[in-house]
Amino acid sequence: MRIGIIGFLHESNTFVNTKTTLKDFEASHLHFDDEILKEWEGTHHEIGGFLEGAVRYNFEPVPIIVAIAMPSGPLTTETFEWIWNKIEEGLKEVGDLDGILLALHGATVAIGNLDADGEIVSRLRSCVGSEIPIIMTLDLHANISDRMVKGVTATILYRTTPHVDQLERGIEAAEIIVRTIKKEIEPVQSFERLPMLMNVIKHDTSEEPASILLHQLEQVLQRPKILSASIGYGFAHADVQEMGTSVVVIADKNYEFADEGVCWLSEKIWKMRSQFTGDILTPGESIRKAMTLDGQPIVVSDVGDNVGGGAPGNSTVLLQEMLSQGVTNSLIVIWDPKGVQECISKGIGSEVILQVGLNSGSLPVAITGKVRTISDGKFFEPEPRHGGRSQNNQGLTVVVETLQKNTIVLTTLRMAPLSLHQILSLGINPKAKKIIIVKAVVASRAAYEDVASKFILSGTPGATSVNFTLLSYKHRKKPLFPWELSAEYRSGN
Ligand SMILES: [Zn+2]
Repeated sequence: MRIGIIGFLHESNTFVNTKTTLKDFEASHLHFDDEILKEWEGTHHEIGGFLEGAVRYNFEPVPIIVAIAMPSGPLTTETFEWIWNKIEEGLKEVGDLDGILLALHGATVAIGNLDADGEIVSRLRSCVGSEIPIIMTLDLHANISDRMVKGVTATILYRTTPHVDQLERGIEAAEIIVRTIKKEIEPVQSFERLPMLMNVIKHDTSEEPASILLHQLEQVLQRPKILSASIGYGFAHADVQEMGTSVVVIADKNYEFADEGVCWLSEKIWKMRSQFTGDILTPGESIRKAMTLDGQPIVVSDVGDNVGGGAPGNSTVLLQEMLSQGVTNSLIVIWDPKGVQECISKGIGSEVILQVGLNSGSLPVAITGKVRTISDGKFFEPEPRHGGRSQNNQGLTVVVETLQKNTIVLTTLRMAPLSLHQILSLGINPKAKKIIIVKAVVASRAAYEDVASKFILSGTPGATSVNFTLLSYKHRKKPLFPWELSAEYRSGN
């Protein structure tokens, strides 16, 4: 049994101006053929799950491509077509396959292809024909289109945020594809989009209200003939028609069971919709609160500059706020390649005066400090963490200690704070810090929960601001809750 493995994942924020190019994939993860085995075996990513599934369920994995880039603006047309061509060429080279395991994000946008994932699925389906099964895994933040679901045999999303179940979902996909090929099961899908969006500040599935949905999803999984069930929380910063919440249930042969699962879950989600909105502290309030709380570190999320949601990771809003409130003993990581070069040219131990956050959209901040560390920026994460990646690279990185005992880390490449090794590898002790600023919303909690005394969300401005009234959408459906309170949902529609 030969099963093709394809991974193409990007979360595209249509509200940022930068475009994602091949260079961004090269800087992150772009692997072909057997190289994929070396890079992804043993990881907690769904690609690692596909490969683990190959061992467990005894098939030959036929790796074709894995292309992943840090979330940012939409892909250029050339980049999208280049990756598709590699998929097409790869398929021709490997010959006949019995099935395909396809890892997509579900919120990928390319210039000229708002539904980039749907485009990949339909091209892939026409390439391999209608006979062989394709099992698709998606991020929990997918904006799912009809084309995506229609072109595949089964759709499986991560169930948790932080996304620490990617390996399991990959194994689940592998089990379903093998049983389908052996004709032990015949997966059928039911899918529904709800006219609503759940605010990302409420996506942590370890706390209410999202924990209640996770529990309800697990109840659906207990029902007879149910093979898989998923809730798509959607990605608000992709202005596409499909943006929003969705539900997918897979049953064995029985459409009725799949439909019942979808209706039941959809009704529960719809009833809870107002619990997925919410207020957030202003930047000033969040830093004041962090200073008054006992214990350390207090991890403050810079929600508007969430690298994992496509923001640059160079906003100085919270740094400025900390300096003006007289905070000492803090830590912040900022994407600032120019600052890195400046520090490297001065060398370890030298004093530097830097303007950080130039071109960030926020005010640049002058800092004076000493260069403590220069690193190649590579780090390894052995544990299951949001994103499931083991090998990470934030490019040449420097640590600057300021006169106020604030630690400023400057990186050459953008890096989402999903692994504590991002700072441990630089010799920084997170427990020794009073405040740590992370460029994330809730995804960083898996990395920081062992050391954090408390988490605070800060409603900062930026490319991933949750002040949605500031974003002007052209493509999203209307009415959609919470923008239009007139949105209505009736199950079975
Ligand atoms: Zn996600």
